[in-house]
Amino acid sequence: MNNFLRSALKKIVIKKGDITKEQVDAIVNAANSHLRHGGGVALAIVKAGGVEIQRESDEIIKKIGILPTGHAVITNAYNLPCKFVIHTVGPVYGEGDEDEKLYRAIYNSLYLAHLYNLKSIAFPAVSSGIFGFPKDRCARILIDTAIEFLENIQTGIEKVVFCLFDDETYGYFEEYYNKLQ
Ligand code: ADP
Repeated sequence: MNNFLRSALKKIVIKKGDITKEQVDAIVNAANSHLRHGGGVALAIVKAGGVEIQRESDEIIKKIGILPTGHAVITNAYNLPCKFVIHTVGPVYGEGDEDEKLYRAIYNSLYLAHLYNLKSIAFPAVSSGIFGFPKDRCARILIDTAIEFLENIQTGIEKVVFCLFDDETYGYFEEYYNKLQ
């Protein structure tokens, strides 16, 4: 294993849990293009963080129309233990070009955290719930994207957490991460 990969892997944490409880600088929301946080992890984030997150999201949508798949925006986190919520839109499985779109969603979230000088960020398994993306492929793309980012961008990000809600998803992330060790 080369030193770049070793150093990137050291910054990655795979854990099971509820992302709304994560004490990191930013958690990532698996949002839709309208930033209507009505189900899945998005609803859990607004329930725990407060309606202000939805209100700020609505303001963004008023300005930009829709948030295209693969893009990311940031809001405050209000009652959550983190400082910010990064909202990204992963692909709906079946719409085409999904791997590339999921890659961009993760990369752009990391890049936004980097621009805000954040040190830690936590991701859920973006697209693998309501959007139907296969969980094993999701695990591979999310971990590979984090590694590529950490290897190539001179960044202050010291920790990238993948916070998985259920045993099956956690199992795929753990398995792929261990394969890279
Ligand atoms: P998408 O529409 O992008 O598929 P979902 O919110 O439906 O987004 O699901 C993404 C992933 O987030 C799924 O694996 C789901 O089980 C998980 N999830 C749901 N609630 C939470 C939570 N509180 N913390 C972490 N992950 C969660």
